[in-house]
Amino acid sequence: MYDMVINYGTDIFRVTYEALENSSLASFLKKDAEVMIKPNMVMAKPPSSGATTHAEVVAAIIEFLRNIGVTKIKIAESASVGENTKAVYRICGFDNLFSKYGVELVDLKQTKTKTVKTGDLAMEIYEEALNAEFIINVPVLKAHCQTNLTCNMKNLKGLIPDSEKRRFHSLGLHKPIAVLNKAVKTSFCVVDGICGDINFEEGGNPIERNMIIAAADPVLADSYCASLLGYEAKEIGYLKLADEMALGKLFDNSAKILELNADKKPQVKPANSAIVKKLSAMTDEKDACSVCYSALICALHKEGLTFSGDKKIKIGQGFRGKGGEGIGVGNCTKGFSKNLKGCPPKANEVAKFLRNAV
Ligand code: SF4
Repeated sequence: MYDMVINYGTDIFRVTYEALENSSLASFLKKDAEVMIKPNMVMAKPPSSGATTHAEVVAAIIEFLRNIGVTKIKIAESASVGENTKAVYRICGFDNLFSKYGVELVDLKQTKTKTVKTGDLAMEIYEEALNAEFIINVPVLKAHCQTNLTCNMKNLKGLIPDSEKRRFHSLGLHKPIAVLNKAVKTSFCVVDGICGDINFEEGGNPIERNMIIAAADPVLADSYCASLLGYEAKEIGYLKLADEMALGKLFDNSAKILELNADKKPQVKPANSAIVKKLSAMTDEKDACSVCYSALICALHKEGLTFSGDKKIKIGQGFRGKGGEGIGVGNCTKGFSKNLKGCPPKANEVAKFLRNAV
C-alpha cells in the first residue's frame, strides 16, 4: 500500500477519482462510517482564483465513497472571519453537490462549539467536528502570508468559530494549529493541487499544477506539499511542532509514492496574475509541464532572485536534445551546463539549485 498517491491531469473529477481508487482509503474506511468532508471555503472566491476547493474534487470523493458503499456523508465548513459560509458554498458551486447528491452542506457557524483542553491550551471547536467519525480533509495546496504553507493541518481552522480564529492569530498560529490537529484527527487527505495561490491564502495569484494528492497522514502530505512551494518542513512552524508531537511523519525519501499519469502531465498555460507574469519573464519556457513550471515559479518567488537575458532559466520538453551554456530546470534541459535533474523537480530543490546557480 502506498503512503501517498499523486495524479496529474486537467479533468479534475477523473484525476481525483483515480487517485482515490489507487489509494488506501477503501481499505480502512468502514462502510457504515459517518464521513465529514472538510473543504477549504475560506472566502467567496471561485476555485480558479487559487483560494478555494474545486467542487469537482468533492464530487469525485462523494461518488467514490458511494461506490464503495459509504452513504453517510456530509460537507462541513466555516468560512474565514466575517465571511458568509453559505455564500462561499454557492460561489464555489457546492450548491450543485447538494442538488445532485443530496449531501448536506453544513455551515458550522450556525452550530454549537465545545471547549477542548489539549495540554496547556484550551480552544473552542465545533461539536460537529469533535463528533465526526471520519474526516476527509480537502484543502487547496497554496501559500500563506504568515505560515508559508496552508494545506491539511491549517485547513482545520475552519472547524473553530471566528472568535477562536482571531485568537489563533494572537497566539502566533503555529502552536494552536498543531494543537487543533491533536484535538481533531484528519482521517484522510485529498489535496486539491489544481491551481493554488502562489503567495496568499485568499487567492488572486493562482499557479496551475494540475495535480491531486491523496494520503492518510496529513503531516506527510503537508510536508510534501511544502516542498512543492519551495519550503523545507523545518521552515513551517506547525510542521515542526507536529513532528515533535508525533502527529504524523514528515516526508522523506522513505515515503512510498505512487505517481499516476506521470507521462501525461498537462502543459503550462499563460499566466493571468501579475506576480506570476513577472516571474515568468525570468524563464525561457518551451512546452513545460505545469507541475514543473509551478515548481520553478514558486522557487523564484521564494528566493527573490533575478534572471534575465541569456541567464533566463530554461524549462520544458522543447529543450529535449538541446544544450550548451545556460541554466536549465528538469530532465528535459539536461543538455545545459547548469542543470537540475528531476521530472519534475520539487520547488525546494529548485530553490536550492537557483541559489547556487547565480
Ligand atoms: S522535466 Fe520535462 S517532462 Fe519532466 S516535468 Fe519537467 S517539463 Fe515535464
